[in-house]
Amino acid sequence: SGRWPWRLPSPVGTQMAVELQALEAVLAERAQALGAVILRGAGVQSVQMGADEVQVEAGGQTFRGRWLVGCDGGRSTVRKQCGFSFAGTAPEFTGHSLSVELEDPTVLSPGRHTTAQGMCNFNPPGTIALADFDGGAGHRQPLDRESAQALLRRISGREATITALHLATTWTDGARQATAYRRGRVLLAGDAAHVHSPLGGQGLNLGLGDAMNLGWKLAAVVRGEAADALLDTYQAERHPIGARVLEWSRAQVALMRPSAGSRALAAIVADLAETRDGATYLAERVWGVGQQLDLGHTHPLVGRSTPDFLMVDGRRMGELLRAGQAVLLVFDAAASLCEEVDVERAGILSIAQPAVDSLGLSALLVRPDGIVAWASDGADAAGLAQAVQEWMGSAGREAIA
Ligand SMILES: Cc1cc2nc3c(=O)[nH]c(=O)nc-3n(C[C@H](O)[C@H](O)[C@H](O)COP(=O)(O)OP(=O)(O)OC[C@H]3O[C@@H](n4cnc5c(N)ncnc54)[C@H](O)[C@@H]3O)c2cc1C
Repeated sequence: SGRWPWRLPSPVGTQMAVELQALEAVLAERAQALGAVILRGAGVQSVQMGADEVQVEAGGQTFRGRWLVGCDGGRSTVRKQCGFSFAGTAPEFTGHSLSVELEDPTVLSPGRHTTAQGMCNFNPPGTIALADFDGGAGHRQPLDRESAQALLRRISGREATITALHLATTWTDGARQATAYRRGRVLLAGDAAHVHSPLGGQGLNLGLGDAMNLGWKLAAVVRGEAADALLDTYQAERHPIGARVLEWSRAQVALMRPSAGSRALAAIVADLAETRDGATYLAERVWGVGQQLDLGHTHPLVGRSTPDFLMVDGRRMGELLRAGQAVLLVFDAAASLCEEVDVERAGILSIAQPAVDSLGLSALLVRPDGIVAWASDGADAAGLAQAVQEWMGSAGREAIA
């Protein structure tokens, strides 16, 4: 906690395993409650970008809109149709996820093991992930029980016998990122903007972070509250974070290669992970707690995710952000500061004496995506007024008002 003073005690765990299907159901329900129309089975076939609108052919219909966001996954049609460049590195291995029944599960050791042929991760009784360093040749090649068994034996080096194969899917460590996230009226988010190996489970959060960053900006532009230029800050803020996750996944592949050099490097990294600083560094990268956008301010909280404050009325910070507005928290002694600024015009939800603060802050302005835009430790009325002005400027409101 000494390294991450802003990480307040929270009921949210540090690891949240969730099935994609369950998460999609929650997100779809929320989108529909807000009025979004979801057309299923109507894949986008073609996209035409114009100066003032985008035209999409999907499911035999033509749709026109001012903006299009391609969130259509790693093989994104939108990305390909609109000429985005997708740069990166080719796969070194094929990953196989298998769900099997084994004659004798004790033949395999539970957990993740690097072997002379690749990597075998066994989660008893029958969930197995294998990495086969074949340059990605096995990707999307069908496996039956016999070929899955041969693969398992070759990679694990154990005489395992598969009696039933329930599921076999493949993936790779190909790592690519769109060099631009916006071309004219088209934007990319999620896997459409970046793909990498699922080792370490970073992809989903990366896409959710894109959506949070882009969502409020696009809404402000569509409502006419902000100039189009606000959308360029999406790429400026999110591209470096995506690039860092790609680096992280490439580093893991480098440690997994079945070469003597990689084995030696992995042993050194394992030793470093046993140290306090090493473990802290790794946790910081996995959780993303070290992430900080360069918003050009001096307070150490600016550019970071907001601490999860507990409000006096029992609500938590995340609940306040559900309204999709910026939130101004003005703590105890500085409560009169709230009267100094026209929060309504600035589109800010303002709460005086809101929270149990243990961080010694007097006031905090949080963007709709949960990123701290301004923070102060003193009762600085002029600073707050200026911060609100700056917020309006950065959100494009100044230009429109
Ligand atoms: C084996 C594996 C394990 C993983 N494990 C983890 C993990 O543990 N943790 C983690 O964070 N991430 C993990 N990931 C990564 C994670 O699944 C992705 O990063 C995430 O699903 C990306 O979400 P997305 O919405 O951008 O794309 P997708 O989930 O791919 O969704 C894209 C959607 O667009 C639709 N679509 C495609 N083409 C069109 C079209 N032309 N028109 C209209 N719609 C279209 C698709 O049907 C799909 O519904 C894993 C990935 C794999 C392959």
